[in-house]
Amino acid sequence: MQFKEVLGNRNLIARLLRMVDSGRTGHSLMLVERDGYGALPLAMALVQYMMCPCRRPGEDSCGVCPTCRKIAEMVHPDVHFVFPVNVTSKSGSSGKPLSASFLQEWRQLYKDNPYFTERDLYARLGIADKVGTISVAEARGILDALSLKPYEGKGKFMTVWLPERMNAEAANRLLKIVEEPMPDTYFIFITHAPERIIATIRSRSRQIRLCPVAPQELAPMLEVRAGLSPQEATVYARISGGSPGAALDMAGEASSASVYLPMASQMLESAVSGDLVGLLEGNDAVLALGRERQKEFCLYMESLLRKMMMHGRGLDAVSDTLPQEDGAVDRFSRVFSGAFYEKAFNALEEARSMVEANVNAKMVFCHLANVLFALVNFRKKQ
Ligand SMILES: [Zn+2]
Repeated sequence: MQFKEVLGNRNLIARLLRMVDSGRTGHSLMLVERDGYGALPLAMALVQYMMCPCRRPGEDSCGVCPTCRKIAEMVHPDVHFVFPVNVTSKSGSSGKPLSASFLQEWRQLYKDNPYFTERDLYARLGIADKVGTISVAEARGILDALSLKPYEGKGKFMTVWLPERMNAEAANRLLKIVEEPMPDTYFIFITHAPERIIATIRSRSRQIRLCPVAPQELAPMLEVRAGLSPQEATVYARISGGSPGAALDMAGEASSASVYLPMASQMLESAVSGDLVGLLEGNDAVLALGRERQKEFCLYMESLLRKMMMHGRGLDAVSDTLPQEDGAVDRFSRVFSGAFYEKAFNALEEARSMVEANVNAKMVFCHLANVLFALVNFRKKQ
């Protein structure tokens, strides 16, 4: 990543260039951003600038030398990454998952979308239903990695993505090295919640706050990366609050919505009108999707119901309802009760885990239809 590829934040980049060129970088930087603003690509551009042997001072790294290429691919031996993880089948049974077990997924996610959000990371790691943490074992690994001499000269970088996910024990272990850094060792903390990081680490770090990306700069990126029309791109650039990652997530949800919204609406409509036969027939479209997309459908329907629940409670401002979902959200939120949502979420969760466990999909969705039907029609009779 070069500075010229980073979206927005031109003043900030000029400040970082001056900082490096005058040798006032300090050993610990804290980039503060809202989810999806792009602090990671900015950090990578900074590391590349600091390491590139043929950088153009005051401008950018060269982008083509072996050092630049290794950093861009996230395979440079002196550039380390730590990020929140959780237990999955991949992390092994030791019960102490480490970022190192997930580096391949991390690199691929960055390659696919450098503006990924916290939710995107968890989805990629297969821990979408959990929150990631940075454990004390991970902190020990950081100390080990930094105790080695740089492989290729020019310093060692430890990028900690979301240090607020560290527990107190891990943070305290890290504190010592942040307080008394070794020469040529740099920490780059990227945080969405600086107030949740222990004060001693915060006070030892130079805080730098990213700005939202202006819609006129964000929209063209959305056209290219998400295949949106100029009109759609302008809408998402605006409603994402200037966060490229959030805008890409919304655009991704919009493309699932175009497939899944009609199916979900038809299922709910049949349930509400007491048409069990129609409800079961509607399942054919879901059965034709295949296993992976059936799981996606369950997740989509859950998020749609959540939007209905929030609309019913007057929380539209935070529900992220897409324009094309407005009709369905308004229609069904008038019919469903609070108790319905809880039970429906459980039923969808159960359906998703049964699909995951290779249970016959016809049985799974027939059961789901029956449960939804009973939930809606049982409530009516009360
Ligand atoms: Zn270079």
